[in-house]
Amino acid sequence: MSVNLQTPIDYLKGVGPNRADLLRKELSIHTYQDLINLFPNRYIDRTQYYKINQLQRNNADVQVIGKITSFKEVAQKRGKRLVGTFQDNTGTMELVWFRGQKWIRDNLKLNKDYVAFGKANWFGGKFNMAHPELELLEEHEKNLRSAMQPVYPSTEKLSNKGITNRVISKIMQQLFIETGGKFTETLSDNLRAELKLINKQSALFNVHFPKSQELLSRAQFRLKFEELFYIQLQLIIKNLTHKSKIKGFPFTQVGNYFNTFFKTHLPFELTNAQKRVLKEIRADLGSNAQMNRLLQGDVGSGKTIVAFMSILIALDNGFQACLMAPTEILSVQHYNGFHELCNKLNISISILTGSTKTSKRKEIHESLENGELQVLIGTHALLEDKVKFKNLGLAIIDEQHRFGVAQRSKLWHKNTSPPHVLVMTATPIPRTLAMSVYGDLDISIIDELPPGRKSIKTVHRYDKNRLNVFRFIRDEIEKGRQIYIVYPLIQESEKLDYKDLMDGYESIAREFPMPKYQISIVHGKMKPADKDFEMQRFIKGETQIMVATTVIEVGVNVPNASVMIIESAERFGLSQLHQLRGRVGRGAEQSYCILMTSHKLSSDSKTRLETMVRSNDGFEIAEVDLRLRGPGDIMGTQQSGVLNLKIADIIKDNDILQLARYHAKSVLNIDPSLTLPENQVFLNTYKQLSKYKNIWNYIS
Ligand code: ADP
Ligand code: MG
Repeated sequence: MSVNLQTPIDYLKGVGPNRADLLRKELSIHTYQDLINLFPNRYIDRTQYYKINQLQRNNADVQVIGKITSFKEVAQKRGKRLVGTFQDNTGTMELVWFRGQKWIRDNLKLNKDYVAFGKANWFGGKFNMAHPELELLEEHEKNLRSAMQPVYPSTEKLSNKGITNRVISKIMQQLFIETGGKFTETLSDNLRAELKLINKQSALFNVHFPKSQELLSRAQFRLKFEELFYIQLQLIIKNLTHKSKIKGFPFTQVGNYFNTFFKTHLPFELTNAQKRVLKEIRADLGSNAQMNRLLQGDVGSGKTIVAFMSILIALDNGFQACLMAPTEILSVQHYNGFHELCNKLNISISILTGSTKTSKRKEIHESLENGELQVLIGTHALLEDKVKFKNLGLAIIDEQHRFGVAQRSKLWHKNTSPPHVLVMTATPIPRTLAMSVYGDLDISIIDELPPGRKSIKTVHRYDKNRLNVFRFIRDEIEKGRQIYIVYPLIQESEKLDYKDLMDGYESIAREFPMPKYQISIVHGKMKPADKDFEMQRFIKGETQIMVATTVIEVGVNVPNASVMIIESAERFGLSQLHQLRGRVGRGAEQSYCILMTSHKLSSDSKTRLETMVRSNDGFEIAEVDLRLRGPGDIMGTQQSGVLNLKIADIIKDNDILQLARYHAKSVLNIDPSLTLPENQVFLNTYKQLSKYKNIWNYIS
């Protein structure tokens, strides 16, 4: 009987309560299993030794054999550093410690041969090594060394407390000794044979103690494949379960509402992409399964009309529908747009938000329950328990990235039987990421903008050019255009940002004085009614300038606004910049986006600004964003930590992801409930994974 891998890490020889505690807190290692899955970040060559006079100024990790001949303490700005003189027969260098100095002095021996390992820095005319890893030469010689020694992820706290890379390697060794290195195979023989994957045991051994470059590569490939394969398997199973278990309401007919609207009220010809997407939605709605679809489309691609027409299909089949948006402003805007169309079709529609009056609220609750109210638009307020529908057939969520998974599922439960769900997002998610994150949803993409749009001209200007920018604004207002000026708002420094906004507002008000110019201001501290009032003034064209924080980021639609000025643009993320820019370019006029920044820019900020200036393509921008920020952040804070992959890299290992998805699909195509004998191994592993790590841990 092999060792149970769910054994708490405390039980491993050489770990003990203190280290166990640190491992839990710093690296989330709770069990033997977690430790095995702590994969090295990189590998270094420990067969090479350098003489001090051979060191190069390239910051490389090197190991040097020598003696510590003396210690001295050097005062510095805060506290002191400990400096050891390290010497071999070719020269001297310094070893430096900023922390843990007492431990170093008590434990390191002078004039004994050590192997020092670390980054050699050239500073003040000589080399030094900060917080080197040190091992007595005689100890060092007893250990196996390899040209590919693993370097494990670590934290400052761990290295301060003496849990160095060497310690981790040691306890990893211990783990392999205690378990005999016998790990259960988790992929089927068939699949392994087909893809020539090495077995689990050998893969784990070689990723931690590589015997050769070739075995290391094969070990990494097998483990990355496995990781991505099971994520895909879980997502696809979830999707299939949905389709088979959860019966939707089949909307069998396209009736009067839809047809009348299509024939007489459609304000423009649909783009081909809109038509295609509507077809996909209609097919879903007409089937027996519950629709669970993600509609992606760049800002301005025309998702709203698709949402509206989907609602009409629900109504044609005698069901109610609702649309939830992340902000009050956006809900009001949707409501205003829909309201007009609904009047023409004799459809009852209401709006419910945080600021809806109690009496109105009651009325809505009642008419929803008795079925008189057909369409409800609103914010999170829709999720309240009091909101009960008679027969909700379709729930649409706009700007899905603003909502968490929990909220999405709350909408599902608004009925005894879940409604069809359509989630829409304008934050284009690269396809690969969408596949791994939203693999449980079907995806529709609007990849075409309505005709006649002029592409937005984007420029980057420094603060010192502000006067020119003001002149430009004046000219545009002269031509009858409207202007947005947006300030950043970041939660942690809300006060400071608010001050920036108010200062900015004042200087703009001085530059563009009343009564000739009228300015709206909208920010998060205002009451919803005031916000709405200011917004409406801008929409009606009563004000020419809208000074705002990012509350206007999503969805706001004022076609006459043609200039977007983004202040402190270096503080915004790429997808946010793209969202903001999408507020203009909605009318027939040439639109502009001006990115204002200070002079000092980090290299990431520069890349972001350059990307914005170069490209108007949301998908291209999303790819750059993904590269800059990593997948964890791409969908905003709601879903940060998305895909905490242990070994695979969603960007670099894209081809392995495709392969894994292909094979997960093929397995499930033939054997959707994994009952065939050869698929038992998948079923068992899948169950294990679901038990210890639900896929939603990755996502929510
Ligand atoms: P988003 O996808 O960002 O939500 P909207 O649905 O708000 O975009 O559409 C942006 C603008 O484009 C709106 O003013 C809308 O009326 C207009 N629009 C949408 N589809 C078309 C079309 N097929 N032809 C012309 N204009 C369209
Ligand atoms: Mg929209």
